[in-house]
Amino acid sequence: MAKHYYIETMGCQMNEYDSNHLSRILEDSGYLPANEPEKADFVLVNTCSVRAKAEQKALSRLGRLVALKKKNSQLLLAVAGCVAQQRGTELLERFPDLDLVLGPREIGRFKEILRKAENGGTRLAAVNTHRTPVSFMGGFEYFRNSVKAYLTIMEGCNNFCSYCVVPYVRGRETSRPPREILEEARNLALQGVKEITLLGQNVNSYVYENTRFPGLLQAMNELKDIHRIRFTTSHPKDLSTEMIQCFTGLDKLCPHIHLPFQAGSNRILKVMKRGYTREKYMDLIRELRQARPGIAVTSDVMVGFPGETDDDFELTLDLIRNIEFDNLFSFKYSDRQGTPAGRMKGKIPEDQKLVRLDRLQRLQREITLRKNKELVGKIIEVLVEGKSKKGEQLTARTGTNKVVNFAYNNIYISSLVNVKIKRASFNSLWGELT
Ligand code: SAM
Ligand code: SF4
Repeated sequence: MAKHYYIETMGCQMNEYDSNHLSRILEDSGYLPANEPEKADFVLVNTCSVRAKAEQKALSRLGRLVALKKKNSQLLLAVAGCVAQQRGTELLERFPDLDLVLGPREIGRFKEILRKAENGGTRLAAVNTHRTPVSFMGGFEYFRNSVKAYLTIMEGCNNFCSYCVVPYVRGRETSRPPREILEEARNLALQGVKEITLLGQNVNSYVYENTRFPGLLQAMNELKDIHRIRFTTSHPKDLSTEMIQCFTGLDKLCPHIHLPFQAGSNRILKVMKRGYTREKYMDLIRELRQARPGIAVTSDVMVGFPGETDDDFELTLDLIRNIEFDNLFSFKYSDRQGTPAGRMKGKIPEDQKLVRLDRLQRLQREITLRKNKELVGKIIEVLVEGKSKKGEQLTARTGTNKVVNFAYNNIYISSLVNVKIKRASFNSLWGELT
């Protein structure tokens, strides 16, 4: 009887990319996907530890999955991602029924590790941080029928922002060779993928021998059958003029940048060790808007960093009003073990963080809604991704990364078409084919 696997993915796009790769290795090894963990012979949770809440969620999920072992002693249970990396063997002690702990940089060895586990090998924690990024060559059938795909081009981070756990769990920056990235992209195009998002914790500090990020983007822009290129996440301090110029010169590069600012107060930015000021950040946005008029700007921001005063917080709101982001991911600061901010004085009470987060989100909602409504009546090119969630409409995305739904017609799936925007809400737009 065929064996089945089940993977649950938490956290960022890099985890999604890794989970796709793990799925492909499992399928190559004879496993079929299962719809629920109860029906699987191999269960893996790919975890995130960037905020305390994400880590607690991962641990409580593992706690519940361990119970499946009581019903099926043959089940192999694994944990991957940042919680796996950070806690390593401690997880094997805490969950005596857990079989495998797999750090993000060990995914390239997964096939070999899986074989050992299947043959009744000892329980294992594989958590090296210094391996080069995995080489994901071949087997791109996994992406057949997908219009868009992620492609990890670099791993790790050297920035050590004072609040962030990523450099400790994902290790130092390591970039993949451009030849390998382009070959993976060509293979994705052969499977029908039209849009590729290049991924890295700090994607614009990509460097491999003489190739920097703008050079890689230029090479990606030449790829036949790839219509759109995106990337995430960029760091303001590494956003060069050459990189900004790519938005003018490269026709496939989508008019959207996700550029986290984290805080609007220079005092807080300094303690966060971000390496830029609010003035520098606003200059960058001005340059980006000059380079590609209409470019969408989204960002990450945090409230309640240790020592954040009401005045500091007002400066964050002021920056949001000034820039008018298309959208924002906003978080309450959370202490991460081992980070300098975790040891700082002046912690902000949870209820105060909540009040600030609520004010910030209400302000951003107004801006997003207003910006979306400004699109009503405009004709916009969109890439059709497939049926909408409810299945009655097609769902597509603008170059600026906004969702547009319109009347169903399957011949348009995976094509670029023009739609006239008729209606707008906070989350999405509705249009009509022109
Ligand atoms: N490398 C990206 C950058 O520098 O902007 C972000 C990567 S991080 C995984 C994603 C977001 O999580 C960050 O932009 C930040 O807003 C948030 N984040 C990171 N550490 C956090 C913490 N300790 N508490 C709350 N939010 C945090
Ligand atoms: Fe974390 Fe800063 Fe690196 Fe982003 S740049 S991953 S926030 S340390």
